[in-house]
Amino acid sequence: APEYIRAISPYQPGKPISELAREMGIPEAGIVKLASNENPLGMGPLAREAALRSLSGIERYPDGNGFALKSALSRRYGVKPAQLVLGNGSNDVLELAARAFLAPGLSGVFSEYAFAVYPLAINAVGAHGIQVPAKDYGHDLDTMAAAIRPDTRVVFVANPNNPTGTFVHGPELEAFLARVPADVLVVLDEAYTEYLNADQHYDSLAWLERFPNLLVSRTFSKAYGLAGLRVGYGIAHPDVADLMNRVRQPFNVSSVALAAAEAALADEEFLAQSARLNARGMGQITEALAELELEWIPSAGNFVTFKVGDAAAVNASLLRQGVIVRPIAGYGMPEWLRVSIGLPEENARFIAALKQALA
Ligand code: PMP
Repeated sequence: APEYIRAISPYQPGKPISELAREMGIPEAGIVKLASNENPLGMGPLAREAALRSLSGIERYPDGNGFALKSALSRRYGVKPAQLVLGNGSNDVLELAARAFLAPGLSGVFSEYAFAVYPLAINAVGAHGIQVPAKDYGHDLDTMAAAIRPDTRVVFVANPNNPTGTFVHGPELEAFLARVPADVLVVLDEAYTEYLNADQHYDSLAWLERFPNLLVSRTFSKAYGLAGLRVGYGIAHPDVADLMNRVRQPFNVSSVALAAAEAALADEEFLAQSARLNARGMGQITEALAELELEWIPSAGNFVTFKVGDAAAVNASLLRQGVIVRPIAGYGMPEWLRVSIGLPEENARFIAALKQALA
């Protein structure tokens, strides 16, 4: 393998429930997992029905062009189907962007403390990754714009960002887009956009006309509750979508995922319910963090990152109590842990276990 492949350190996912259950010899039902920013409500009823229905016909290949889901997305967001690229999770969309626009000799820009897949996607195609120092644990868009070099072809921006939950307001993003050279693709990763409140909401799709170098990436894994099915999408100028679709696997989204995502998109009630539950749970958890006098980073997502000092020790104690959260030492934040917002009773289990771990 080339040296740039050997240099890659693999993505570290949250510990699976089954693994901890095995290690501790306890039933899976006794474990609370708040480690991967999943929807604690599970999938919505409409998506579940559609997924089950799609099983009759499972012997056939999926629609490789995702006609029905693209039509639904196109109606919902007022874009043309030719502006869409479907992915096996939005991770796939991020990788397709790197594969279509980067190569050895070119570079991609991303922020310190930003989602770990950006450097992975950049390095996997032999391009050079430029990490820009964060500002208050979030994206410093001025410094990022200044870091763009003549060989830069992609810039990744997560809004909200994972793992820090930081958020940049629409006008700042728009000003950033205006500064980025036209031959640099801006990948605006909006994996958590459905959790934004009314004050935070902005319309990135309205910018596509003016900025044909913009790719908006979204997912069904978070607020829509379909993380295990793996389906996400990108919205861009048709030329950008076309290039990405050329390097896409022919059947990268399964028929079950296509059907469930299309139904999920129509289930606005479930989406609203998920956002409400998240807002309440965020209040529940941050209140407890305040009571424990712990520092946390205000989050616009469905998770919150807080400082405990010896995070490895606190995490070990949480695991012994059957609570899985996410250590983020790999992000250069060895004193912090990230917890996903769960159901009220899951949040309570986490809070009790955290109190115990810190006692
Ligand atoms: N972007 C961000 C910022 C994320 O946090 C995640 C999930 N951890 C993803 C993209 C990818 O999620 P998925 O592939 O499930 O859509």
